[in-house]
Amino acid sequence: AKHDGKNAVRTFSAGMGDETAARMDLERDLREALRNGEFVLHYQGQFDVASGALTGYEALVRWQHPVHGMIAPGRFIPVAEDSGLIGPLGDWVLREACRQARAWRADERGLTISVNVSPVQFDTADFAQLVQGALQEAGIRPECLMLELTESTVLRDVSAASEQLQRLRALGVGIALDDFGTGQSALSLLRHIPIDQLKIDRSFLPGPDDTDESAQVFLRLMVMLGQARKLNVVAEGVETAEHQALLREMGCPTAQGFFLSRPLPAQQAQALLPDMNHA
Ligand code: C2E
Ligand code: CA
Ligand code: CA
Ligand code: CA
Repeated sequence: AKHDGKNAVRTFSAGMGDETAARMDLERDLREALRNGEFVLHYQGQFDVASGALTGYEALVRWQHPVHGMIAPGRFIPVAEDSGLIGPLGDWVLREACRQARAWRADERGLTISVNVSPVQFDTADFAQLVQGALQEAGIRPECLMLELTESTVLRDVSAASEQLQRLRALGVGIALDDFGTGQSALSLLRHIPIDQLKIDRSFLPGPDDTDESAQVFLRLMVMLGQARKLNVVAEGVETAEHQALLREMGCPTAQGFFLSRPLPAQQAQALLPDMNHA
């Protein structure tokens, strides 16, 4: 039998089981994708519920794979986190989002650009320095940048997280608590962690079968809670006109979702900016 390099690899992969082999392929491809610049950011608009005005964008990473096409972050972020690649990838996302904020003159327009932060990034000692570097490099004010953390990120080590949050807030960037309500101790966190924005997870918006008032109780409660703590509340996953009307009635300040705008490539997302051509 022939034993060239390729066959040896194939035999080895087969022995590991398909899943492990596929994962190793993905990891190798990810590494290459970073070098080749295959990642892109899409931007999803966030809107003032009362006026309909654009208030900012959330940056969402996608992988433009040369063979498999556009790959969603749910497929590769976990692999990037396990392999250490999330460091350089997260750094690229941060700098690219800041660069875009500058190009869109987010400063003058009073818009925020939100960036998702992986727990692995957040736990890095020099993360605040990386953020400061990205702001300086792009030349934008820190108020333009909103960092989105999930409850689990903060809960891994609350005292270490508090210190990291102090450092970030000292820079002047905003902190959003993402997917609020889906974690283990949402309420106690809110009492102890200083944040600026509360993003209510989309699972709290009523589905087509949730016709009675009880389906809305938690949504209403979270909007009130955020308002009472003087936080900017963003409802995620606004998919229908009914959702939008409900949020308006509840006094929820900000909304994000497919009904308002899908995540779009920068060039298309730019069309959401008011009078970009005249300014
Ligand atoms: P997320 O931070 O909760 O982002 C919102 C996700 O919900 C996005 O999926 C978005 O496309 C989707 N979405 C927005 N509006 C609607 C809606 O009305 N209905 C429904 N059903 N979905 C909606 P996406 O882009 O696939 O991102 C998935 C997750 O991947 C994000 O969830 C975030 O946790 C993570 N992610 C995305 N970009 C990054 C990144 O740059 N860094 C890190 N660490 N994680 C990221
Ligand atoms: Ca998010
Ligand atoms: Ca979310
Ligand atoms: Ca999520």
